Amino acid sequence: MNETTWHPDTCECVITFQWDRPGDTPRFKHATQTCLRHRDKQGQLLFDCVLAENRRKNQLLLELLARAGDLQPDEVDFLVTDDGIKFTLPPRYSDRLPALASSLTYPNLSISVRS
Ligand SMILES: [Zn+2]
Repeated sequence: MNETTWHPDTCECVITFQWDRPGDTPRFKHATQTCLRHRDKQGQLLFDCVLAENRRKNQLLLELLARAGDLQPDEVDFLVTDDGIKFTLPPRYSDRLPALASSLTYPNLSISVRS
């Protein structure tokens, strides 16, 4: 059995989970830290919630990168809140922003350009 301590990049939780083989469903073990947004959740429910948020962000980021073409992952800032996901792109995207933003339709997703 393997154990991983995870610091998701979408919130401040720190969660340890167990898994047997890559691709297996990971099992919650414990949370060493629970962030303010997730403080009302515990155990597997907490893990599922943080994991779902993180996967959603990763999926949307991949779609954004695929559509933008010349955008590097480290050029994109993101913020996940209870209200949704916010991506911020480099200033050179200001002209293409409306097209890019309208091509990615996801509830409560907002995309803007860094000033
Ligand atoms: Zn959290």
